[in-house]
Parts: sequence; C-alpha cells; structure tokens
Amino acid sequence: MKLRHDILRFPQGKTRAFTMSYDDGVIQDRRLIDLMESHGVKGTFNLNSGAFGQVDQYSHLRVKHQKILQDQVSELYSNMEVATHTVTHPDLSQLPSGTVLYEVLADRQKLEQLTGKLVRGHAYPFGTYNASVMELLHSAGIAYARTVKSTHSFALPEDFLEWNPTCHHDDPRLMELAEQFLQHEPNGNRRVKLFYLWGHAYEFDNNDNWNVIEAFLDRISGQADVWYATNLEIASYLEAASMLQYSADGMLIYNPSCTAVWIRVLDRDYVVEGGQTVGIVRD
Ligand SMILES: [Zn+2]
Repeated sequence: MKLRHDILRFPQGKTRAFTMSYDDGVIQDRRLIDLMESHGVKGTFNLNSGAFGQVDQYSHLRVKHQKILQDQVSELYSNMEVATHTVTHPDLSQLPSGTVLYEVLADRQKLEQLTGKLVRGHAYPFGTYNASVMELLHSAGIAYARTVKSTHSFALPEDFLEWNPTCHHDDPRLMELAEQFLQHEPNGNRRVKLFYLWGHAYEFDNNDNWNVIEAFLDRISGQADVWYATNLEIASYLEAASMLQYSADGMLIYNPSCTAVWIRVLDRDYVVEGGQTVGIVRD
C-alpha cells in the first residue's frame, strides 16, 4: 500500500527537505562544496567518468569548461553524493539501447570504484530522455534521474526516473521560491515540501554571480524544520516510506524496511522504526 503523502514526514518529523544537483564535475565544484559545507547543506554531483581532466572552450561560455581530475573525486565529494551523468555526455534519447546501457553502467562502475560507495543516481545529459531510456536506466540499477525541467513547485516526484527540479539557480524566481518554501504554516495535515535546486558550478564563474548562490544558501540554510540531504538520501527515504504496510482499518502500520519512517496521522506524529509496528492512537 502506498503511503499517503499528506501524512508523510521527513526524518525527525520535518516537513521540508532541501537538496541540490550539480552537473559535469567541473573545477568550480570545490568552491561550491565549500559554500555548501559551511552552510550545512547537502547535494549530489553528476560526473562524466570519460572526461576527467578535460578542458573545453565553448563558444557560449566566457570561461573554460574544465573538469576535475579523476584522483580528486573521492576527496572532493566525500561529504556529498556522486551520481552518473554518463561516460561521455551524449544525448541518450538518440542512442541505441546497448550504448545507453554502456554509458550508464560503465560510468556507475567507474564512480563506484573511485568513491567506494554505491552509485544509484543519474542526471540526464542535456536533460534529454524518453520512455526507453528510463527503462534502460531502471535495468542499470538507477534509482532516480533528474531532468532540467523546472516545476517552480515543492512537490515530490511522481516518477523518480523523471525527477523534475524546482528551479535552476539562475531562475529569476529563485529567492521568491525560497520565501514560499520557508513560509510558516501550521503543522496540520499539509504535505511535505521539497526544494530541489540544480545547475552547473562553472556558471557562477561564467556569469560572475557567486553572490546569487551565497545569498540563497544564507536564506535556505540553518532552518530547524528543513532536512538537508543528498538526492539519494531523499529517494531512499521515500522508497522506505512507500513500503509501509497497513492493517485493514489503517490503525496498525508496519515498516518492513531498515529505515525509520516518520508519519503524521490524526494530528499526531509517529516514528515507525525499521522492522517495527506502531498502533495509531484514536482520541
Ligand atoms: Zn551535463
């Protein structure tokens, strides 16, 4: 039985979550990660394992598109999640199935070797995909994949292989959305909110606007009711929540996973520990 989103809570009963997703593994990731760590926020970095150390000068960019070196991966991203962005950054919607699988699996394997961690996330190069690509990603053990389509909303994804972010950091509505996200609301049976920010760290150098992300992180960080997490931490938590089992009358809830799940039922907060059953209190 699927958990109703109106009663789902994030860990520690929080009603909001914030995450970031940055692509291509560029040298500016270091400055961004320093900022993220000093603000106590977390996120995911999507890397092309076939392009480490590569330097390109694109006509649409003022600055060089310079990738980090392979031997920097484990140290640079040690407090963040590393996810796949394919080996060579092709448009996956134009490739034969076998090549799509190779691009994702070979990237996964390389990144797993470098980090010593399971890599289960993906960001679509150029934001392009189709139903066949989504199926292939699922076969390759990918738990979620990010698009480049801004929703300007805080809804949870309907399909994790089509995870639309809230907005890009250059979005003119960035600060307005931050205010909406943090707006005080009574803790009733309202839904949880997720703010999902994406971009490329080289854009801050290119557009000379590090001040935008600094101001945004100043505003969004340090909030008691916000869970700061990587993409995979959020996807894994929601996966555990979706596995909850209910008695026929809905008053007993069993958690078959090993992840504690927080829920709010009839105006009370509950934590259902992994492997435990809780009874809902009737007033
Ligand atoms: Zn990219």
